[in-house]
Amino acid sequence: MRLSQMLFVTLREDPAEAEIPSHKLLVRAGYIRRIGSGVYAYLPLLWRVLQKVSQIVREEMNAAGAQECLLTQLQPAELWKESGRWDTYTKAEGIMFALTDRQGRQLGLGPTHEEVITTIARDMIRSYRQLPINLYQIQTKFRDEIRPRFGLMRGREFIMKDAYSFDADEAGMKESYRKMNIAYHNVLRRCGLAFRAVDADSGAIGGSGSQEFMVLADAGEDEVLYTDDGQYAANVEKAISLPADAEPSPFKQFEILDTPNTPTIASLCEFLNCSPTLVLKNVLYQVVYDNGMTVLVLVSIRGDQDVNEVKLQNELAKRAADYGGSAVLALRVPSEDDQQQWAAKPLPLGYIAPDLSDDYIQPSKTVAPQFLRLLDQTAVELQGFVTGSNQSGHHVVGANWGKEFQRPSQIVDVRKAKVGDRAIHDPSQTLKSARGIEIGHIFQLGTKYSKAMGATYTNEQGEEIPLVMGCYGIGVSRLAQAAVEQSYDKDGIIWPVAIAPYHAIVVIPNINDTNQVSAAETIYSELNKAGVETLLDDRDERAGVKFKDADLVGIPYRIVTGRSVQQGKVEVVKRASRETQEISIHEVVPTLKRWIEEALST
Ligand code: ATP
Ligand code: MG
Repeated sequence: MRLSQMLFVTLREDPAEAEIPSHKLLVRAGYIRRIGSGVYAYLPLLWRVLQKVSQIVREEMNAAGAQECLLTQLQPAELWKESGRWDTYTKAEGIMFALTDRQGRQLGLGPTHEEVITTIARDMIRSYRQLPINLYQIQTKFRDEIRPRFGLMRGREFIMKDAYSFDADEAGMKESYRKMNIAYHNVLRRCGLAFRAVDADSGAIGGSGSQEFMVLADAGEDEVLYTDDGQYAANVEKAISLPADAEPSPFKQFEILDTPNTPTIASLCEFLNCSPTLVLKNVLYQVVYDNGMTVLVLVSIRGDQDVNEVKLQNELAKRAADYGGSAVLALRVPSEDDQQQWAAKPLPLGYIAPDLSDDYIQPSKTVAPQFLRLLDQTAVELQGFVTGSNQSGHHVVGANWGKEFQRPSQIVDVRKAKVGDRAIHDPSQTLKSARGIEIGHIFQLGTKYSKAMGATYTNEQGEEIPLVMGCYGIGVSRLAQAAVEQSYDKDGIIWPVAIAPYHAIVVIPNINDTNQVSAAETIYSELNKAGVETLLDDRDERAGVKFKDADLVGIPYRIVTGRSVQQGKVEVVKRASRETQEISIHEVVPTLKRWIEEALST
């Protein structure tokens, strides 16, 4: 392609809308254009990148035995009502764009496709002889993200590859999952990305496991905890570790002490000159279930630990049925406004004890009358501990379970693992932290959707059994931007060769020099003929502008037909290393072919 004929517009200045380097660079280099909040046009250069990523994904999915299809983006509400997700997706979380057609029927714009694929499986899979089946598609997804940001990283319209496997049993599903796991490793490696597969939260569905594929980059929204021995890596939402040992308590006697202005653990420990491992911290949450029921939750945890709200939400989801609900709509620390909705009197915030009276709750039809009291594992063995007294400005010391306080019977693990913790598999290893961009997520779903929607098959014994499912996503457009986030310099993008929009760019420094032009034309056409995807910068611009643009756009190899064309030579430059050499014109094609081959085989 000739730049003179392309829609080729680059910007010198960083766009105001962009915060992170990859977003700035993609806008500046003319890859994307913002159309609305979280909605971007993929311009010709980016579209080539997306097609390359898609092709790699496609090849690896096909190699793993999955079959490509294309499902509908308009999805009837009935399907989502069958799975029980309509209200959660349209109202509670509100992530699904919902609309009503002119016949008054409700539809959603597909944020994901479990419902659609399960309805197909229900209709078409009858017998064990048809299994296993794995279907995938590469398509635009719609999600009304509350905070769309970072360009393609978190859009409201984005491209995803999603795959769904159907197996006869758990063992079959695990095998399908194993194949996808390998395919995902292959995709990311082939795209030239540095990544880590990490244990991930499977959410309320439970399921036997899930992994996320994280591209490592400082701008990542996720935190990954890992050990240097390579044996452990997990999303912080899911991570587990050994807490530090608690110190022995100096408080032998139970006492109520005046502890003015000590609403935080730090201020309290300073005042009492004690370790936070001796403190029992009582954190108040409020959960709203999908039937509208609000439950006040009092989590008691050791003072040096924090609550992992993802783990807490999973625990609360398990208890939904106790309150007549089936899913968690919202979980948060109650704001002042929230408290006004249900508090019978002002709460002793900062000084709460585990026995905070249920009288603080003004029960109603939609507010459970009692606190749900959960005890984190870290606080089960505490002795002679310090905790609140339910009176502002006072704490108790030297408290014990079974004496001054009744120990909550519901013991949970809701503790947040953190950097520096000892690893469970080997306590000599400590957890380290890295930022990651979640590019893919593979998930053992089990029978959640097949049961809810009645997708069954007949086994060899003639029994009807729900299909066992897995689901597997890759953010294709997010991946393209993540590649930039991982590979750029002060001058612009440095594309991995496998997903660069073009392999090479031929730059004519002076288009008034006929020798330069004719050498460039020859090289340009020969490279393209040889399968090297090549751009020709034949614009009437200064050489400096052309070099700057070539750097910005990030094409891996540049060929410059400068003055030395007189001697039959051109300059070739590698974008990543800036390594420059002069080679003779007829060596250009074999040299580039060799470089590309080498780059693609690593
Ligand atoms: P996240 O935790 O980042 O919100 P998710 O867990 O909701 O993502 P999945 O439903 O697992 O994402 O979707 C599969 C993949 O699609 C993700 O791993 C990610 O790469 C991509 N993806 C999800 N949401 C977006 C978005 N708003 N914009 C771009 N890509 C996205
Ligand atoms: Mg996810």
